[in-house]
Amino acid sequence: MNQKELLKQIKTTDSLYAIQKYIGKVIEIRGFANNPLEEELLLLTEEVGELAKAVRKEKYPVDNKKLKNYDSIESEIADVFIVLTSICNSLKINLYDAILEKEQENIERTWQKIKKDVSNE
Ligand SMILES: [Mg+2]
Repeated sequence: MNQKELLKQIKTTDSLYAIQKYIGKVIEIRGFANNPLEEELLLLTEEVGELAKAVRKEKYPVDNKKLKNYDSIESEIADVFIVLTSICNSLKINLYDAILEKEQENIERTWQKIKKDVSNE
């Protein structure tokens, strides 16, 4: 099955597991399945940087002449998710299980939001 056919099969009701499986298949078709983990981590870092740039572009003033060089926040969020999911596949980690396990820890934690003192700013 090619990438277009695989993409057509994705539905809004698909599970995270199905999306992770899809990403694994297309990454293999694109020839990146055996990239070293270090390279994937570098790519993830790069994509997080691009996301930061996209947020800065949309939320804070930037040089208007450079606007066309940046992608949308949605596009960069997707890139980060795709690369992160691909790293999970490389490490044989089920992202759904990992999130569930982590959230089981998180819901037991006491979260303290520290109030920022802005009186000196
Ligand atoms: Mg990107």
